[in-house]
Amino acid sequence: MLVVLTERARSLAQLQVDFALGVSHELRTPLTVIRVAADNLKKGMVENAGQARTYGEIIDTHASELSNMIEETLAFSRLQAGSLIGKLIPVSAEQIVRSSLANCEAALQNARIEVEVHIAPDIPLVEANIYLITRCLQNLIQNVVKYAAAGQWLSIRVAKVALPEGERVQISVEDRGPGISPADFPHIFEPFYRGRNGEASQVPGVGLGLTLVKRVVEAHLGKIEVKCSDRGALFSLLLPPCSFPPESRKAV
Ligand code: ADP
Repeated sequence: MLVVLTERARSLAQLQVDFALGVSHELRTPLTVIRVAADNLKKGMVENAGQARTYGEIIDTHASELSNMIEETLAFSRLQAGSLIGKLIPVSAEQIVRSSLANCEAALQNARIEVEVHIAPDIPLVEANIYLITRCLQNLIQNVVKYAAAGQWLSIRVAKVALPEGERVQISVEDRGPGISPADFPHIFEPFYRGRNGEASQVPGVGLGLTLVKRVVEAHLGKIEVKCSDRGALFSLLLPPCSFPPESRKAV
C-alpha cells in the first residue's frame, strides 16, 4: 500500500511539474506577439489606419489563442481535481453540433474550410452537460482548423450506431488533412502530448485538448474513437442515449 501511495504521489508531482512547464511555455508565444504589437503601437510605429487594423487583428487572434489555452488548462485542472461533470440534461446531438459550429464559425471561415453536416433522422437524445460536450466537439473542430486546414473540408455526422455494449449516438468529425503520423497516434490522448505537426509548425496548443475530450466523454459513459489515414483523420464521440422514457424527454 505504501509503495502504491508513494508511486501515486510521485506521478502526481511529476504531472504538476509537466503541467506548469508545458502551460507556461505555450502561453509565452502568443503573449510575446501581443507585447511586440502593443509596443509598436505605443511607440507610434503605425503610419495609417490599415496598419493599425493589422495590429488590431494580430492582437485579437493571439489574445483568443491565449484565452483558449487558459480555458483548456482550467478545464483540465478542474477534471484533475476530480470535480464532477455537473448536471446532466437531455440534449439533442443536433443542438450540440449547431452550437459548436456557431462558436467556431469565424475560425472556419478564416481558414476557408467547407463544412458538411449530416444528421440522420430519429436520433435519440443524450444525457449530457451541454457546456462540456459542446466544448469537446469544438476542440475537435478547432483541431481541424489547426492541423487539417489544408484539406479545406470538414464533415460532421450524427448517426445512431449499434455497438456490442448497446445503441450509441455517434457524432463524428472528419477532415481531409494530413492525418496523424503512426509515431503520434498512440499518444494523442496523453496529457501535454503534442504531435510533430503541432510542434514543428508552431501551431499554438498545450496538448490537453484531446485529453479533455476523452475524459469528458468517458465521464458521460461514452467513448472516443479515432481512425486515421494519409487522407485525413476521423474522430467519433459515442454517447449513450438518454435513459428517460420518451414522453418525459425534452431537448434543450
Ligand atoms: P494540441 O492541439 O494542444 O496539440 P490536442 O490534444 O488537441 O493538443 O492534440 C494532440 C495532437 O494530436 C496535436 O498536437 C496534433 O499533432 C494531433 N491532432 C489532433 N487533431 C488532429 C487532426 N485533425 N489532424 C492531424 N493531427 C491532429
